[in-house]
Amino acid sequence: MEQKHKQEFALASATELSSSSASALTQSSPVFARFSARNGLVELRFSEQSEAIGGYNVDPCTAQLLKLGPVQSVCISKDSDTNEEKSYSRGITIQFRDEEESRAFHCAFEQWKTEVKDQDAVVRFAVYLFSNPLLLVCFPGTHLPNGDVSGSLKSKFDDKVEPSSAKMYFHYYGQLLHQQNMLQDYVRTGTYYAAVIENRADFIGRVVVDVGAGSGILSLFAAQAGAKHVYAVEASEMAEYARKLIAGNPSLGERITVIKGKVEEVELPEKADILISEPMGTLLVNERMLETYVIARDRFLVPMGKMFPSVGRIHMAPFSDEYLFVEIANKALFWQQQNYYGVDLTPLYGSAFHGYFSQPVVDAFDPRLLVAPAVSHVIDFKKTKEENLYEIDIPLKFISSVGTRVHGLACWFDVLFDGSTVQRWLTTAPGAPTTHWYQLRCVLSQPLYVMAGQEITGQLRMIAHSAQSYTIYLTLSGGILQTSSCKLDLKEPYYRMSQPQPYVLTQDQQPHQLMHSQDIPIQADDLEEPELIQLQSQCSGAQLQ
Ligand code: SAH
Repeated sequence: MEQKHKQEFALASATELSSSSASALTQSSPVFARFSARNGLVELRFSEQSEAIGGYNVDPCTAQLLKLGPVQSVCISKDSDTNEEKSYSRGITIQFRDEEESRAFHCAFEQWKTEVKDQDAVVRFAVYLFSNPLLLVCFPGTHLPNGDVSGSLKSKFDDKVEPSSAKMYFHYYGQLLHQQNMLQDYVRTGTYYAAVIENRADFIGRVVVDVGAGSGILSLFAAQAGAKHVYAVEASEMAEYARKLIAGNPSLGERITVIKGKVEEVELPEKADILISEPMGTLLVNERMLETYVIARDRFLVPMGKMFPSVGRIHMAPFSDEYLFVEIANKALFWQQQNYYGVDLTPLYGSAFHGYFSQPVVDAFDPRLLVAPAVSHVIDFKKTKEENLYEIDIPLKFISSVGTRVHGLACWFDVLFDGSTVQRWLTTAPGAPTTHWYQLRCVLSQPLYVMAGQEITGQLRMIAHSAQSYTIYLTLSGGILQTSSCKLDLKEPYYRMSQPQPYVLTQDQQPHQLMHSQDIPIQADDLEEPELIQLQSQCSGAQLQ
C-alpha cells in the first residue's frame, strides 16, 4: 500500500540562485514549501500553490539548509539533473515571514532529513502527526501565538513511553473530573497556593513555565503572584479547558500563554526564571512525570533558576498490620474451591495469591502501625539527571521499636517549596491531613517476626517501565535468619481507601506529633492488642473499599 503524507509551509518568497539568472517565486501568488514522502522517498518542493508542475525540487536527505539571517535561509542541494562530472550545486534563498516560521521550518527540515528514511519511519511519522493534531494545524506556515510543537520526530517521551499508555494517560488528564479531584485536594492545592503567594518575591516580574498545567490553576496562581508571563504547557485535551478558564480570568490571563503539547517536544520563545509543577504520582515517582519536570528544567530554565517544588523525599518504614495481611491473603481463598460449579479452581490458587500480593496497597493508615522510625530517600529536582530516575535503589535499615510481625514496607513522600521568603513542605505522611495520594504499602506474603531493638534491613529497588510506572522489588530481612521478598507493579495498585482507624490519643501524644509520624514512638500495646487482632481476623473477608 502506498504511504503518503506531507507538511506545508507558506513563505514570503523563495528565489533560485543560478549562475545565469535569479528566478523568484514571490508573494504575488503565495509561495509554498512542501515536504512530502511517498513510500520512503522524501521530497521538498518550493512552488506556487496553483502550480502543479513548476517550482524547484530538493532532496532534503542530501541538501543543506543554512541560516543567512533571522528570517532568511539558503537551501543548497546537488542539482539532480546534472551528471557526476558536471555536478553543480543549486541554491534557493528562502525568505520567511517571521522568526517563528523560520525556526519551525528548520526543525521540520531536520526531521524529514534524518527521520523519514524508510517506510517504517514514514508510517511512524504519519501516526505521530495524527497524534499531534497541532502539528497539522499549526505548521503550515501560520503564526504560533501559543507556541509550537517541534523537536525530533521521536521525542524523549516517545522513546520511553508505550503509545497505548500515553494515550490512556492523557485521555485521563483530559477529563475535568480528574482535574477536579486534584483541585479538591485542598491540602495539595492549598499548599501550592500558599507556597506561591507567600513567595511573591520569587514570581514578581518573572517568566514562569507551568510544567503539565492541567486546568491551568498553578499558572493562575503564578500570575496572581505577579509573574511577568506564564507559559502553561499541557499535552492533554485539558489544554483547551485551561485556555477557557484562563480567558475567563482576563486580568491574569493576559499574562498566560497555554501551549498544547508535550514538555519534551514544545518550543518556548524564552527561558523561564522559575518552573512550577505538580509532577508527583503515587509514591512520588508513579506516572514518571518527574522525568518530564527534569527535562523541562534542562530545556527551559535559566541557570540557577528556581523550581517549585525543588526537592522530593520518599519516606519508608516497616509496618505491622495483621488486618491488611489477612484481607489480602483471603482474597485468593476464592481459588481454593474444589467444586466451583463442578470445577476445581485450586490450580490457579498460587497465581491468584501472588497476584494479590503484587499490588501495592493505597490507603490512609494509622501511623501507629509503623514499627520503626522511617528512612528517607531524597531526590533533588534541581540537580538530578533524568536517567537517575530510571532505576532507584534504596538501601533500608531500621531498628524495630517493638516485638511484632512485620508485614511490609509503608511509603509516603513530601516535596519542598524552597521559597526566598517562606519554605513549605507538602506532605503525604500517615497521620497528616489526608491527600488524594494517600500512602502506599508493599505487603509481604511472608511476614517477618522481629523482637524490639532488632535490626530490619533490606532494599527497595524501583525500575521504571514503559507504561509510565515502576516495577518495585522489595526485600526485608530481620529476626532470626528471615528474609522475605516481593515484586510489585506500581501501575496496578489496590485502592483500599479506608479511612484511618479511629484511635484515642494517649496523654503523652500530642496531635501535632502526628504530622511527623516517622518520629512517633510506637506503642507496643497498640499493635499487640489481642482482641483487636482477633476481630480483624474474623472480619478479614470483608473489603474496605
Ligand atoms: N498542574 C495541574 C495539573 C497537575 S496533573 C494542577 O496542579 O492541578 C499533571 C498534568 O501534567 C496533567 O494534566 C498531564 O496531562 C500533564 N502532563 C503530564 N506529562 C506531561 C508531558 N510530558 N507534557 C505535557 N503535559 C504533561
